Amino acid sequence: MPTPSDTSAAPTDLVELLHRRGQRATPQRLVILRELRRRGRHATADEIRGTVRDELPGTSTPTIYAALELLVDLGLVRRIDAGAGATLYDARTEPHQHTVCRRCGRVDDLDGAVDTAALEQASARAGFNTRAVEVIVSGLCADCAAAVAAA
Ligand SMILES: [Zn+2]
Ligand SMILES: [Zn+2]
Repeated sequence: MPTPSDTSAAPTDLVELLHRRGQRATPQRLVILRELRRRGRHATADEIRGTVRDELPGTSTPTIYAALELLVDLGLVRRIDAGAGATLYDARTEPHQHTVCRRCGRVDDLDGAVDTAALEQASARAGFNTRAVEVIVSGLCADCAAAVAAA
């Protein structure tokens, strides 16, 4: 009987990428990517660690971080530095931006056109070596805006 931890549910794209780089598809790497994709939303390394604890007993937070950073390197996961709070990891890799609530820390996806080419050209003129263009829209989420208005 297949269980959620069955390796047949392993992300085959990750296995292929790792093999191409001569790296091993360790259970940690497979389970962490699968979990991040299953959640379908942004998660911290600690949140991931909490949900994979049963499948990966004894896995330390640094190990989780190392696996997540490898997934970022491979282009399968995005790292979001949303300012305050822990770094978030996002299994949605296609271009999108984020809203960050300055009151409760909630981070949500935001789809809207951003002229990344113009920003890259401007940063190149400034001698800046750009690796990624990320737009963070900061403010209050709907719940917090309502709470503040009611206070
Ligand atoms: Zn909020
Ligand atoms: Zn996102």
